Amino acid sequence: MRTTEIYLDANATTPVLPQASAAATEVMSEEFGNPSSVHGTGLRARALMDEVRARARRVLGALTGELLFLSGATEGIQTAVLSALTAIRNRRDRGEKVPRLLLYGATEHKAVPQAIRHWNALLKLDVEVQAIPVGRDGRHDLNWLRKRASDAGLICTMAANNETGVISDLEGVQAVLADSSALWLVDGVQALGKLPLHLSSRRIDYAPFSGHKLYAPKGIGMLYVREGAPVTPLIMGGGQEGALRSGTENMPGIAALGEVLRLLEAGDQFGSSDALRNHHDRLTDALREAFPGVVFNADPDISLPTTINVSMPGVSGKVMLDLFDAASIRVSGGSACGASKAQPSYVLEAMGLEAWRSSSAVRLSFGPAIGTAQIDEACNRIRSCGDALRDSCLTPAFQRHSMPAEVITRHVIDGAVCYLVADHASRRCLVIDPLPELTQQLIQCIRCRSYILVAVLDTHSHGDHASAAAALLYDIPAILTDIVETDALGWPLAGDSIPLGSRRLARLDVPGHTKDSRTYLLSDVQELIAAFVGDTVMPAALGRSDFDVSEPLMFAGSLRLLEKTVGRETLLLPGHDYDARYACMLGTEVARQPLLANVLDGALTFADAKATLESALAATAYQTLACGARVDVGSEADVDLTPRALLDRARDGDRLLVVDVRESYEHRLSHTLDLGPGVRRQAVPLSALVNAIPGWLRLDGDTNIVLFCRSGNRNARAARALRRLGIDRVWSLVGGVALWPDQASQLADAEA
Ligand code: PLP
Repeated sequence: MRTTEIYLDANATTPVLPQASAAATEVMSEEFGNPSSVHGTGLRARALMDEVRARARRVLGALTGELLFLSGATEGIQTAVLSALTAIRNRRDRGEKVPRLLLYGATEHKAVPQAIRHWNALLKLDVEVQAIPVGRDGRHDLNWLRKRASDAGLICTMAANNETGVISDLEGVQAVLADSSALWLVDGVQALGKLPLHLSSRRIDYAPFSGHKLYAPKGIGMLYVREGAPVTPLIMGGGQEGALRSGTENMPGIAALGEVLRLLEAGDQFGSSDALRNHHDRLTDALREAFPGVVFNADPDISLPTTINVSMPGVSGKVMLDLFDAASIRVSGGSACGASKAQPSYVLEAMGLEAWRSSSAVRLSFGPAIGTAQIDEACNRIRSCGDALRDSCLTPAFQRHSMPAEVITRHVIDGAVCYLVADHASRRCLVIDPLPELTQQLIQCIRCRSYILVAVLDTHSHGDHASAAAALLYDIPAILTDIVETDALGWPLAGDSIPLGSRRLARLDVPGHTKDSRTYLLSDVQELIAAFVGDTVMPAALGRSDFDVSEPLMFAGSLRLLEKTVGRETLLLPGHDYDARYACMLGTEVARQPLLANVLDGALTFADAKATLESALAATAYQTLACGARVDVGSEADVDLTPRALLDRARDGDRLLVVDVRESYEHRLSHTLDLGPGVRRQAVPLSALVNAIPGWLRLDGDTNIVLFCRSGNRNARAARALRRLGIDRVWSLVGGVALWPDQASQLADAEA
């Protein structure tokens, strides 16, 4: 592991303890016998395996029943579910009455419901599958369960939840199951080493465990099966594990797990429950201090001290993850963040938490072997994360020493774009196309920099979302605005332009997409800087004009007027950007949208051709209304540059401009790339990328611009967008900071 990393993602996986890895190595090179062999080497392997099994039985309180070694918890879950469902099918085949329900806790790891559905279908059982609801505290609704327990054939209730750490009330579940003949599966993965499970003194039938969640390697797990509970092997073969799980045993994994269990029994390597609680409290104190208003998503009194799940009002989970990652604290999203849209956490949703909490949750989890020094360092870094967020005006806390806003900052929600345009010197700012989700964030941003809001403008009446202008104006404190009487789109009734320090904003009516569509033109004393075109022209699309409020017959004229006013090389900033293109120009779009080329070249059939294009427009990937038919006849450029290739270019003296495109709160926290002194650097957060584009378009042709971010995803998309705008020598660093070699300069020298 890199020395500077603070790893707080133990519920995902843990490093292998040195003692465990030594035990595995010994078994791979010295004591490498096959436990099924009858010679001395094999017998020693069997003795080791028996010893580990006996130790596991003691740790789990599983003195009777089976304890099988297998590949991990997912396999254990399959075996348990297959066994339970096969038993039900056998009953049905014998003509006996079969249970009506298969039940699993709504917050179970996905492996459980997926396995149930899979085997239910494969065995053609077709028993109804239902999720047991949980309360706001994350615990199973025992009343609900009580009403159905006697109809159930299998009931799955995890011991502790992997996202929240909430500990199930297994005694309560057991009491409810007293009169039920259902088989009971308890996923013990997150409980291993943290909670006593007393397996054989409870009526639990199956309990799967995973080695890699507790300092053993991936690929080793255990399944406890209560004495007398049905077992159907998932894997048949040489008859290992009492013919219940064939295949030569994973002896290195077993030896490593055995070593972890030995340390657990000895009790000196792992923190006591008091020590773990103390770590927990120190981390939560640091979080509270760093992020005032932070909300904890599980009650610590009924949760594992090793798991902390938090949400920050007004800050997305993505921002929090980027922030922690920049500080080299490895945490995980309480929700899975897909490329296009953050998926809310189904666990927090099941608990009935508000949508903002389930879509912005972050999980910090540590293993019981973590040391105090690491917790100290984690707390320090969490505090620095809070400072960075405050300085970027992203927390509700008031902050005087904030960084100035860029001239244009863009925010994108589900493909819809909102712009903040600011002039730091005069402290005047305005908002274009406000989105409801951003109201508080915009107010924070304006308040913490002591800006005055001089206009809230819409480029048109939107079809896919409501304008948040009214909400923004309602919520913003009066001292922060200076807005006079305006028309419906927010333009001041008196005045042809809105001054913003040395810049000014003018308007141009461009009916088409809607009757009221407008373009706002931002210029400084010398030149036009950019045009906010709303949906009139977007990268690879023209705004649709088949709405009731559209003016299709005026669209062509508006496009020609736009060309006459801004030419083909002004940066156009769209109202929607579904594919992270950032900006376009009429020149780039003419080359890629044949319809636009036709209209600007004078074709008369524009309205008909456009109507045909829009006749069957589907929703966007965000399930919002598509604001235009996308037609992009150009191809995607290959922009990848590997770390090796970048180091070679730097060594060869190529002219390089290395651009950190992470947001300001991220690059404040983490080191930049180690490329030697001769390389030019720039920091341009993606939210402000459009400000840098005109300068890059003017750069001499020899300079290679190399964009990098945390993981390489964001910069790859941005580099392709810049190529599309005609910046040919722009590259994206593969793997971003995450895959940048630790000591790059030495590596380059050594290989030179
Ligand atoms: N169950 C729970 C609660 C888990 O947290 C995990 C892993 O994330 C699993 C099951 C699956 O474990 P494995 O990776 O060993 O298949």
